Order: sequence, then structure tokens, then C-alpha cells
Amino acid sequence: MPQISGSEEIRALERRYHFKFDKSLGQNFINDQSVLDDIADACGAGPKDLVLEIGPGMGFLTMALADRAGKVLAVEIDERLIPILDRNLALYNNVEIINQDILKTNIPALIEEKGRLKDGSRPENIRIVGNLPYYITTPILTGLLEAGLDAESITVMVQREVADRIMARPATRPYCVLTLELAYYGTPEVVRDVPAELFVPRPKVDSAVVKLSLVKGGTVPVKDRDLLFKVIKAGFGQRRKTLSNALALGGFGKEETARALEKAGIDGQRRAETLSLKEFADITGALAPDA
Ligand code: SAM
Repeated sequence: MPQISGSEEIRALERRYHFKFDKSLGQNFINDQSVLDDIADACGAGPKDLVLEIGPGMGFLTMALADRAGKVLAVEIDERLIPILDRNLALYNNVEIINQDILKTNIPALIEEKGRLKDGSRPENIRIVGNLPYYITTPILTGLLEAGLDAESITVMVQREVADRIMARPATRPYCVLTLELAYYGTPEVVRDVPAELFVPRPKVDSAVVKLSLVKGGTVPVKDRDLLFKVIKAGFGQRRKTLSNALALGGFGKEETARALEKAGIDGQRRAETLSLKEFADITGALAPDA
């Protein structure tokens, strides 16, 4: 299907619908077709797949997704965009727009209710895609992951700085709780960089498209995922302190911590930011071997 995008088209729609960009909703729309195509290609959706799109805006990424996927469910919070989306997507019979806040959406229930393909069949794969509103990138990502969706991948535009955190190696400054949480759920890669001038209005910072290929059951073997995240958060809660002290301050008893670190073969004098995900998993297993 032919696609139009670019700053002129966005500005024309802005005038026609008297639309005012709402900064507080992170409204920076992509004005470059190659970026739209790269995101849609990278997400890997095919005719038997469902795409859940977060924040379709005026619908240009939605079109690129709908050209490839069996169905697109697009969740947009801003009701002023709904008539624009309806107009832009009128020729697509495989797109459903949901006027809702993604953070207040029960996503598994939404997919169960509206996720079937046109022929009534269940999708083979679920792929999550979005040019995310920057102000809620982390809660959206962690919310999606914690919802326990049976999805293949999450392909999202994030600020370059967030992409650096997602891709960070241990003992570097951007290495953080988000790095480890995402590394637990899957394998991240940077699809491409996106400079600020490829958005309307132009944001202050550059962005990048990141794809997380999800691994069912997690990338490291732990019996208690919640405990793993508690250990990681305790470690990073006191980033400058030794691991022994950070874990003790984070609610694990001093002796319990010492025993677990010894069992896991990890030096308690190290700092949390030097530990790999596997090492955090080893500590978790040593803290609760039977959990
Ligand atoms: N997909 C479009 C594009 O790539 O050009 C627009 C992306 S824009 C960065 C983010 C979009 O997310 C906006 O349309 C905004 O209204 C929407 N949005 C912001 N907060 C949201 C929320 N909590 N739930 C759903 N959509 C939201």
C-alpha cells in the first residue's frame, strides 16, 4: 500500500485537525520513511503475526506494520489523534485502534479479546512495537515484560542514552537495573540510530531503535525471578558500597548474605555494578536453593 509520511504530511494534518503536539505525552513523530520501514522490518512481523503497537500517533508506523503483519492492535492515549488515525488507516482492514493508556491496559486480556487475525485464527507470534513516549519508557518496558506475555520480541524507539543502558557491559557507567532486567528476559540489539532531525517536532536528543528478542523462561536459570530482581535492586540501591554491605542494607541478613556469596563463589568486596547477570543468578540460587 502506498505510504506518505514526512514533515509536510505531518504538518498538513496538524493544520487540518488543529492538532497541537503535547510534549507531556512524548509526541515526537517520525518523519522519515526509511526509519518506519527499518522498525517494521526489524520487528519481523509476517502475515500470521499480531503486532501490538504502543502510541501510534498519526499512524505512519502503523501503516508500515500493517503492510507486513496479519493484524495490528494500536493503543493510543490521546483521543485527539483518533480521527487522524481513522482517516489515515481507513484503507487497512487489519488495524484496530484502542483509545487507552497503555500503562492502565491489561495487555494479556486485550490480546485475548482483540488479538485474533482477520480469519478468526490465533496469531502465530505476538510482536510488540512502538516509538515510545520517552517519559514512560522504563515503566512501559518493565510492565510489558512483567505481564508475562507470550511474545517473540519487543522493538522500540528509545532515547540513545536508554539504548546505551540496555546494551551496557558490567563495570561501565550505564550498566544498571534496567540492563539486567532486560538481559534476563531476552537478547537485546541496536537496530539503528535515529538522529533528532528525523522527528517532528525535533526532540533535544538522538534516539535508537532497540530490539529485544525474548527468551521463554529467561536467559539464566533461576527458580525465583522476583528474588533475582530483589537482589539486583539491592545491589544497585547502594551502587558505591561493597556487595556484602549493599545486600545487607537491601534487606538480606548479614550472615545470610555472607553464606550465599561464599556458596556462589563471589567476593563480597566487589561492587554490584561489576557482576554479570549470571553471577546475580548464582547469588539468588544460593540465597534460596529450594525456592
Ligand atoms: N508512532 C508515532 C510515530 O512513530 O511517529 C508516534 C510516536 S510518539 C513518540 C509517542 C506516542 O505515544 C504519541 O502518539 C502519544 O500520544 C502516545 N502515548 C503517550 N503516552 C501514552 C500512553 N500512556 N499510552 C498510550 N499511548 C501513549
